[in-house]
Amino acid sequence: MTNTTATHGTSAVRPIELRSVTRHYGTGDQAVTALDDVSLHFAAGTMTAVMGPSGSGKSTLLHCAAGIDRPTAGQVLIDGTDLGGLDENALTVLRRERVGFVFQEFNLVSALTAAQNVELPLRLAGRRPAADAVRAALAAVGLADRRGHRPSELSGGQQQRVAIARAMITRPAVVFADEPTGALDTRASRTVLGLLRELVDGHGRTVVMVTHDPAAAAYADRVVLLADGRLADELRGADGAEAIAARMAALEVRP
Ligand code: ADP
Repeated sequence: MTNTTATHGTSAVRPIELRSVTRHYGTGDQAVTALDDVSLHFAAGTMTAVMGPSGSGKSTLLHCAAGIDRPTAGQVLIDGTDLGGLDENALTVLRRERVGFVFQEFNLVSALTAAQNVELPLRLAGRRPAADAVRAALAAVGLADRRGHRPSELSGGQQQRVAIARAMITRPAVVFADEPTGALDTRASRTVLGLLRELVDGHGRTVVMVTHDPAAAAYADRVVLLADGRLADELRGADGAEAIAARMAALEVRP
């Protein structure tokens, strides 16, 4: 990973904090409470897995925390900045500069090479990408020799590694990963999870990952379980995949 920043992005300020966040969708009979008074913070230099049954509010939590969606009530702070006080332009700039994203389906631009995909966030921000930074980012994910390849010429695991390099190129405080191993086989999953772990351990970044997979969650420092839009439980990744799976199963059979 590129590491030219002096601070590693680890400020004393909490990278992400949710204070009593509630998100309703729809009104009247159609009203759904996707998140119900959730307070959480994600400390610098940690990896958190967010788990829970389908419909429990994981995506809504990720979208609110990343400033993609706005809560109905409560506050979200990124690096101490209250997103509620920002207009759309300011929010876009903050997201671009402080937040990285990794998606289940990689979301690379098919017409661009690996190197061009990695430098895209910088170009969108109007910054000139330094060739050696892009090269270093690809080298850090083990793809130095694939910089000229297009996504269709790469395996799923390689595409996700390009996506991780792309997420890191702006040196964000936090990387949100939405089912980052959902489309990968076991071996490629391990590589991707190892790279996300390295962002945290080697570079002091903060990773927040939504996953269904207890084995993936076991890579996290902390596992947050949601049910019905509320925090239902919390485990440590070190508790292991079996313990995490057992807690998930218990939540899924709740009446
Ligand atoms: P998860 O990611 O855990 O599956 P979501 O955050 O996607 O859960 O959804 C939580 C709840 O909010 C669900 O009941 C879902 O149907 C509802 N929901 C999510 N997005 C919308 C939306 N745009 N409009 C209406 N309801 C929504």
